[in-house]
Formats: sequence, structure tokens, C-alpha cells
Amino acid sequence: MLTQINIYNKFISALRERNNSKQTKEREKLNKIQAKEILGSYLSCTSKMPCYSYNLSALDCIKGSKLVNVKGSVCYGCYALNGNYKRYNLPLKLQHKTKNISNNDWCKALAYLINNQGNKKDKNFFRWHDSGDLQSVEHLKKIIEVCKMTPNVKHWLPTREYGIVNKYIKQGDKIPKNLVIRFSAHMIDTKPPKTFFNTSTVHKDKSFIGVECVSYKNKNECGSCRMCWDGSIKNISYKYH
Ligand code: SF4
Repeated sequence: MLTQINIYNKFISALRERNNSKQTKEREKLNKIQAKEILGSYLSCTSKMPCYSYNLSALDCIKGSKLVNVKGSVCYGCYALNGNYKRYNLPLKLQHKTKNISNNDWCKALAYLINNQGNKKDKNFFRWHDSGDLQSVEHLKKIIEVCKMTPNVKHWLPTREYGIVNKYIKQGDKIPKNLVIRFSAHMIDTKPPKTFFNTSTVHKDKSFIGVECVSYKNKNECGSCRMCWDGSIKNISYKYH
């Protein structure tokens, strides 16, 4: 009789354990709506890019918010503060996304959306940020964590925050192979920044340096070009428009 009771108790506790671990797994699972709540938005989908991207408010750009008032700078007349962005009040509306970076589940939510993006765009590539820029070393660390959680995707991060990237590297931290960071030149028609291997520039009256982006010949769309993600290309120059 005692043996029968023991077997019964063991069976019940195994059942409970299985149910508990099932519930934990269910809780750990994300869906698109939960990911959106954590991040403050879904991924962004621009007409130019062949892939999805992610944006923050241009009002939160650290270097850019100074350059936006400097004539001749790439940020002067920033598209992410004007046109449709301004019409729909996006710069202000997007600002809560900057605060959401500190959410503990931020990496998990972004990796979920990138890994479950469907086939509308080229899911092998991802661009950081169609507006906005790096906020801190912690922010860069989180982006790198997302890159590691999405190993089949090639990431491209153009940035004006040279100091943040350099500080990250000085700490001895590595940039994963599936991420190309490009330091963007601040002023139009100037040479690429010297402090980093991968860079980008903007040309207007002078000829381009390195390789020219030819999206302007293709209705301002990338088409099949993926040069920005190619770490072997040192500098890419975008024609001013
Ligand atoms: S260089 Fe190629 S990938 Fe980069 S923006 Fe231009 S068209 Fe797109």
C-alpha cells in the first residue's frame, strides 16, 4: 500500500514539475505585441533600405543635435526632423523609445522581432538606425548583444558617436563578425574620419572618396546593393541630395 502511495506521490510531483517548467517557458516566450510594448514600436520599414531597421528620435542624437545647426554639416536640415517626420510629430513621439533602451528585455524583444520578421524585406540584413544614433556604451553593448542573438543576420551601424565606440573597444570588448560599424563624417565634402577602418562620407561639390553609393541612380533605393554591410569596403560616399 505504502509503495503505491509513494508511486502516486512521485507521479504527481513529476506532473507538477512538468507543468511549472511549461508555464515558465510560456512566460519567457514573447510575441510581437509584447516585443512592441517593450521597445515602443515595431521595426521600421523605409522605402530606400532592402531590410528592416530601427529608429530613435533625432532629437536625442548627442553629436547630431549640435551639428544640426552647423551649415555644411551632414545633419544640417536633418530629414528626420523635417518633412513627414515633422508633419506626424515623430521626433517627439519617438523619444520614449530612447528611455525604453534601459528595459531588461530590450535585447530579447529586438532579437525576437529581427528573428521573426517574415519575408517582406531581406531578412539577412539589418540597419541601425534610420534616425537617431548611439546613446551610450551601454546602448552599444545592448546592440552587440542583439547582433549575437541574431547570428544569421548582417548588421550595419553608421554612427557619429566615435567616442562611444572607441570607449567600448578600449574596454577590450569585441565587435562581432556580423556587425559593420561605420564612422560617418560630420561635414559634407570632407575626408573620412581617420580613427576607424569602416567609414562613410557625403559628397556634393567634390568627387566621391572610395566607393560611391549609386542609389541616386536607382530611384533612391538600394536594390540589390549591400555595400554598406561589406566590411572590406573602407569608405562609402553618399551623394548629397
Ligand atoms: S551603398 Fe548600397 S547598400 Fe549602401 S545605401 Fe547605397 S545602395 Fe544602399
